[in-house]
Amino acid sequence: MGRTKAWQESGGPDTSAVRLKVTRSHMFTRSVASRLCAGNTAALPAEGTQPPVKVASTYNRGLPGEGRRMAGMTEPVTNWAGNITYSAKELHRPHSLDALRALVAQSARVRVLGSGHSFNEIADPGSEGVLVSLTALPPSVEVDTAARTVRVAGGVRYAELARRVHEHGLALHNMASLPHISVAGSVATGTHGSGNGNGSLASAVREVELVTADGSLLTITRGDARFDGAVTSLGALGVVTALTLDLEPDFEVAQQVYGQLPFAGLDFETVSAAAYSVSLFTDWQRSGFVQAWVKRRTDQPLHDFPWAAPATEAMHPVPGMPAENCTQQFGVPGPWHERLPHFRAEFTPSSGAELQSEYLLARPYALDALHALDAIRETIAPVLQICEVRTVAADSQWLSPAYGRDTVAFHFTWVEDTAAVLPVVRRVEEALAPFDPRPHWGKVFTTPPAALRERYPRIDAFTALAGELDPTGTFRNTFVREVLGV
Ligand SMILES: Cc1cc2nc3c(=O)[nH]c(=O)nc-3n(C[C@H](O)[C@H](O)[C@H](O)COP(=O)(O)OP(=O)(O)OC[C@H]3O[C@@H](n4cnc5c(N)ncnc54)[C@H](O)[C@@H]3O)c2cc1C
Repeated sequence: MGRTKAWQESGGPDTSAVRLKVTRSHMFTRSVASRLCAGNTAALPAEGTQPPVKVASTYNRGLPGEGRRMAGMTEPVTNWAGNITYSAKELHRPHSLDALRALVAQSARVRVLGSGHSFNEIADPGSEGVLVSLTALPPSVEVDTAARTVRVAGGVRYAELARRVHEHGLALHNMASLPHISVAGSVATGTHGSGNGNGSLASAVREVELVTADGSLLTITRGDARFDGAVTSLGALGVVTALTLDLEPDFEVAQQVYGQLPFAGLDFETVSAAAYSVSLFTDWQRSGFVQAWVKRRTDQPLHDFPWAAPATEAMHPVPGMPAENCTQQFGVPGPWHERLPHFRAEFTPSSGAELQSEYLLARPYALDALHALDAIRETIAPVLQICEVRTVAADSQWLSPAYGRDTVAFHFTWVEDTAAVLPVVRRVEEALAPFDPRPHWGKVFTTPPAALRERYPRIDAFTALAGELDPTGTFRNTFVREVLGV
């Protein structure tokens, strides 16, 4: 029996019955085994109103990878990476806004499933909750060329959004390494691309439309005192049904990949400022970067990149993976949305068989952090596919990992082996601890919640906002409760 991946282009499960279970967990400091659970069947609503519900709620325990099949189960629903199988008792795909509102109002626990590209349990409502996919709602993308904004529905992915925005001669300021991810899910976790001057993807949001716990509609606009809590919200405030984003005039980007770039003598600030977007890759097999991906806007002054030689063949960041999955290189100018991501929309991004972690710290620590990781590279390298170092401009979202500080991000694409990876994740966290790292909300981390809270100066404001908009805790799953300490 196969698995249904939340990221599938069909928009998620479309069978009439889906099994939902968590097989592994990768966050905080609890033992993995203690958080394994299995069980639960759910029936998918045919028309998105009142779904037929079938539930076999059982909680099993086992070792990582030992998810047990329950009697009467059909197909498990997993995240993109396949390391999480959701434990929710029901999965719903409402076909109308009214059906969504009714569903939320009558449910005690709800979490939204975006495109499922997170690597931890952030989207899982728990075995007594319901998971909601917005893929059956109209995928509207409304571009206002005069205002230079776009209003995008909650289930839409960046690939579709970018294509539509580009058709109108406009552009987003930046994109993540892949366009396959949903817009609402991305901004909820503080997802970002690269570039000293480029804020996280959430920094483009000017308005959020939500269905809150009692089923009512709420719009929060930039300038509202609640706005800085409302975008990078971990999905804890309500179901985001639409976002309005700032746009700018269309631009072209020329992407050039360079080879070896030693750490010795590295002026990180200058190198990372050499183009609109710079990503540096190391496999930690040796000191130094093995690739530099340099994305230059053709409407801005072109700077040299004298620290490394241009690659002579098309490259993939992960050694051994086919470069055809990647966006055009060799400095060929092209539309922003076909150059800013590393991976093409029509191919599997990254390696596909992987786990990821990422830590964001204040940019002045970049070199010290690099040396701290270099000191443990023999621990990192055996379970690493590739490590990417990039920069993000400060933003004002209270729970953004780039909140209030120009940021350097250390990203790790690990092998797909939880047991081998988790001890190394802890070593990386120890090495980076002096630099107050904020883990990416959508990736694997073991940072204790108390330490996390110390790194977010506005976390109390966010907790108060969550209490105000969701007094019954409808959108609070285990992940959110642990982060907020409530
Ligand atoms: C191959 C790969 C490459 C990646 N590259 C990058 C990168 O370049 N930069 C980066 O920063 N991150 C990157 N990520 C991480 C990824 O961007 C985040 O995990 C992001 O949250 C994924 O969006 P999603 O829709 O798949 O979210 P999901 O995992 O589906 O959900 C994430 C959170 O958002 C909530 N949510 C989703 N939709 C809604 C909604 N409509 N209303 C309310 N809450 C909602 C969910 O409940 C959950 O809490 C990458 C991940 C993968 C697998």
